[in-house]
Amino acid sequence: MNYHSTRNSSVSVSSAQAISQGISSEGGLFVPEKLPCFLYSDLLELQHCGYTERAVRILSAFLSDFTAEEITECVGKAYTGGKFEQDRPAPISYLQNGKMNMYLLELWHGPTCAFKDMALQLLPHLLTKSLKKIQSSRTALILVATSGDTGKAALEGFKDVDGTRIQVFYPENGVSPMQKRQMNTQEGNNVAVCAIEGNFDDAQTGVKKIFTDPEINRLLEQNHIMFSSANSINWGRLLPQIVYYFSAYCDLMANGEIDREGEKVNIVVPTGNFGNILAAYYAKKMGLPVKKLICASNANNVLTDFLNTGIYDRNRDFHTTISPSMDILVSSNLERLLYDLTGNDSARVAGWMKELATGGRYQVDGDILNRLHELFCAGFCDDAATKETIREIYRKENYLCDTHTAVAVNVYQQYVEAKKDTETPTIVVSTASPYKFADSVLSAVSADYSADASEFEKVQALSAVTGTPIPAPIVRLESKKVRFTAICPKDKMGEAVLKTAGIKYTV
Ligand SMILES: *Cc1c(COP(=O)(O)O)cnc(C)c1O
Repeated sequence: MNYHSTRNSSVSVSSAQAISQGISSEGGLFVPEKLPCFLYSDLLELQHCGYTERAVRILSAFLSDFTAEEITECVGKAYTGGKFEQDRPAPISYLQNGKMNMYLLELWHGPTCAFKDMALQLLPHLLTKSLKKIQSSRTALILVATSGDTGKAALEGFKDVDGTRIQVFYPENGVSPMQKRQMNTQEGNNVAVCAIEGNFDDAQTGVKKIFTDPEINRLLEQNHIMFSSANSINWGRLLPQIVYYFSAYCDLMANGEIDREGEKVNIVVPTGNFGNILAAYYAKKMGLPVKKLICASNANNVLTDFLNTGIYDRNRDFHTTISPSMDILVSSNLERLLYDLTGNDSARVAGWMKELATGGRYQVDGDILNRLHELFCAGFCDDAATKETIREIYRKENYLCDTHTAVAVNVYQQYVEAKKDTETPTIVVSTASPYKFADSVLSAVSADYSADASEFEKVQALSAVTGTPIPAPIVRLESKKVRFTAICPKDKMGEAVLKTAGIKYTV
């Protein structure tokens, strides 16, 4: 199977090429030329498989230039051997919250306690194999812009992986103290971390510019280095995310929660860059019985407005919220959805992306808006409502969730209220451990919260108050040494990258 670019559908590359390169040279994103189909008979079979077997089946349908052995090896390295708690990467918590049919798909049992591990434990293995396949002997320099969780998960996935280096940029004031500490203490000989003076969109825009900067690319080429991406613009990031939607559905089948052929579920996703929910959309197109894809946002509700009105407008205030991984105004992966909904009309997509880059706004046509309404529901909630939801779910269900997951639960409650859909089993994606956002979660559930306590005191208090265990990776963090303290202006990111590449550079 080959991959096209969303901004030029005549581009056609192998999956190894798409994963190695990360982004197409004209700035478009790689998408598969067609989606494989999974039938009810496939689901019946997969329901008896473990996570790794399900992953191998789904990945094999996309990576036609990889052998079955190669895929099995990559998947094994990613998801077994204790990387994930009890080797269960995507367990479901069964809640029957009042009149709702809600299941929480917990994707945060990996090494960094956020769902990004699901893809970033696998991507380095897919990438190093891809580089060999395209016969590249160059070092891959992974550039990451992060709103918090991707950075750490990518660092952890790529640390000391042969033939790779990784440079992470994060917004200085846009990540939680725990996220910052996770990144600044990162171990490994091929890693670099830098804060930037700006927000996540500045970091992402800066990274995209560096990717296509001819001078920087020339210097890298001279030094036998090539760029690649671990952001969800890379197809190798998105593909592993399709797996857990199938896996969750199969678990619900195996447990008898779903017992009819074609029985539909809703999927609620706390959304930022639109990667996770796009993977759910692909799963639906591949045959997974999904009723509504419910897109949950925080106060940065650009996607809520877009999915409701068809107008994407980033000209608005940027809010720093307690769900920082969703503090995004330019959701890159929407481009892939638009490409699909226009029937692969790359000229139209490129036009909208140009409008977005210049005026910060575009509007899709009525036919596309109708399709969006059929497929998606969208909602948002602010920080106060997020904390209220954490408190309510904890009190009523004795279930502790993080701020991002709480946004999804809140928006799902709004959906049930508005549409009276209490029947459809609903998978709410739980994207981070509550211990990653201990300050906000503790203040939501505990009366004797003190803002002045240290981050680790809050972690301890959260465990004491709720009787839930602190994840091992967070326990280990307390004694680690801080290695990275650099802060750079957003127009100096290119120089930081060259430094990480070991290239001498004078302006
Ligand atoms: C990255 C992230 C999200 C948003 O996911 P997207 O794929 O960017 O939409 C939500 N919650 C958490 C905890 C995250 O780390």
